[in-house]
Amino acid sequence: MASESFIRENMLRVQENIEKACEISGRDASGVTLIAVSKTKPVELLREAYAAGARDFGENKVQELLDKIPQMPADIRWHMIGHLQRNKVKYIVDKVYMIHSVDSLRLAEEISREAVKRNITVNILVEVNVAQEESKFGAAPGEAESLVSEIAKLPGICVRGLMTIAPFVEDAEENRVYFQKLTQLSVDIMSKNTDNRGMGSVLSMGMTGDYMVAVEEGATCVRVGTGIFGERDYKKES
Ligand SMILES: *Cc1c(COP(=O)(O)O)cnc(C)c1O
Repeated sequence: MASESFIRENMLRVQENIEKACEISGRDASGVTLIAVSKTKPVELLREAYAAGARDFGENKVQELLDKIPQMPADIRWHMIGHLQRNKVKYIVDKVYMIHSVDSLRLAEEISREAVKRNITVNILVEVNVAQEESKFGAAPGEAESLVSEIAKLPGICVRGLMTIAPFVEDAEENRVYFQKLTQLSVDIMSKNTDNRGMGSVLSMGMTGDYMVAVEEGATCVRVGTGIFGERDYKKES
């Protein structure tokens, strides 16, 4: 099918770009996970991405995740990348591989409570609003360290690293400074949390418009939607 070749080609191109960015910055491409952001896209297209090798998928809505998970192969790692309400934690806590969008102690406490009930450990990232945009969720950079250390004390939660959503810009270079900031913040926090309940080194940053710059600056996860699946049509959303 025509659509299959376009998704396969897009994925190959994104992978090549990640490899180029790794080469430029002297990194190993195996240290970067490509998350295919499939929000708003039908399961048929997710299956094509899966057939082309995608195993990490990102969604930003609880209901959409719950609809899609049972329709897709079981070896997929599902990433919750959208803002998460506390009352919905219980529906996804044992179904996702990682929650990227933890931005408050109260949300983390709810995740911890649900994790302990199920006797599981949930991987989370602390979302940081590095650009301090009014419209965005995420902890302020100056609050990130104390938030991480509070969350790291909770049972059933493992803080694997940090995540940010950079501003929407025409020129990806404008976001380089924010990616540098998140990387530095991660280094700082890790150096202060030397016990084994500290923070991991995952850095989830970079989207279709700027993932190459993010990889050059240390991203270990990039979240690419449009660059794999094409433009999203929100009018079709129910
Ligand atoms: C939608 C979304 C993405 C992917 O955006 P694209 O520009 O389509 O690559 C990445 N991260 C988050 C948190 C998103 O909501």
